[in-house]
Amino acid sequence: MNTIEIEDTYLVNFCEKVPLSIDRGIGSKVWDESGNEYLDFTSGWAVTSLGYSHPVITAAIVQQSQKIMHNPNSSLTYSPSRAKLLLELVKILPEGMGKMFFVNSGAEANDAAMKLARKITGRKKILSALKSFHGRTLATVSATGQAIQRDRFNVLVSDIEFFNYNDIDNFSECIDNDTAAVMIELIQGEGGVNVAKREFVDFVVSICKQKGILLIVDEIQTGFYRTGPAFLIEEFGVKPDFLTMAKGIAGGFPFGAVAVKSEIAEKIEQGDHGGTYNGNPLGCAVAAAVINYMVDTDIGSNVRQNEMTICTMLKECMAEYPEVIKDVRGKGLLWALEFSNEQYASEVFMITQKKGLLLNLKHGTIIRIFPALTVSTEEIINGINIIKKAVGSLR
Ligand code: PLP
Repeated sequence: MNTIEIEDTYLVNFCEKVPLSIDRGIGSKVWDESGNEYLDFTSGWAVTSLGYSHPVITAAIVQQSQKIMHNPNSSLTYSPSRAKLLLELVKILPEGMGKMFFVNSGAEANDAAMKLARKITGRKKILSALKSFHGRTLATVSATGQAIQRDRFNVLVSDIEFFNYNDIDNFSECIDNDTAAVMIELIQGEGGVNVAKREFVDFVVSICKQKGILLIVDEIQTGFYRTGPAFLIEEFGVKPDFLTMAKGIAGGFPFGAVAVKSEIAEKIEQGDHGGTYNGNPLGCAVAAAVINYMVDTDIGSNVRQNEMTICTMLKECMAEYPEVIKDVRGKGLLWALEFSNEQYASEVFMITQKKGLLLNLKHGTIIRIFPALTVSTEEIINGINIIKKAVGSLR
């Protein structure tokens, strides 16, 4: 049996797979087992922020694993690697948010934030936006604003309600005296790259402040320079009570973090959270190396430079084929091309793959483009030209 046959036989499959068996990768390129080359515009879903096999990451893994991968008594003992990561994160987090803890994934980060917000406020209700995505644990899937992800599970975590994203009136109607927290993405990545309006976010922040409701900003997809700044909260001028992070933080090593405001940190008590692998030295070493590299090389400027190229080329494509492309939206290196029907989107997805470009198809009509932050302008131009040609061939 080959790889695909083995996986199809023994692996529980939760989704329709792409029939490619990827053997290796360097930068933004990957190769399948037959040696075919692909340009990857998915960065493993905003994870491989420095591209594949980055020497900074491989060196951190080798060096730390030769020292120690997991501490005696886990997180009860101190770790120089964890200390190093804390100092790296403090450099890029807003002032007053310099206390944090570590987890192993995005869902765990959001789950912990929701759990702590309920305990700290003594209230129950969590408000989340329609079209949001916050993870697949029972609590985070319950707080995910997409019925298709959520409604198949018949016993969800209770007291979670949804508001229309960017709708001030609807949001106001959802608030009551039992509201513990609002959880929000400033750009909804999985929801189709929907950008929050500044005035909406300002309103949410002011209501939270006024009513003692805690604000959880989920930057699991948008954090670590994905959209240009280290975090979107900088651009929106928001200081949330909880900032949840994962994906790009360790460039492919499973890792996550939650930063909290100092006044929230003071209210967190022993026993409130924990986990065997949380803050393990290996993950910390990789995340510290990734963040250090991002800051040292000013990766945000590469993102901003390529943003202009992506934006211009995608908009030109929409102007040329308005009957095929309905909308182009995004920021930094997180973009969506919305097609006028599902057939166009799936054909473009298949044609581009045959031409050696990997994209992400969402909700039938949306193609998401989110390459590694180290992608070159030449790779962006080549990739978008493949998309343009594919769109042109639909006529
Ligand atoms: N939050 C957001 C905004 C995400 O995009 C995702 C994953 O796509 C998650 C949470 C869940 O993260 P993980 O898959 O690491 O649990």
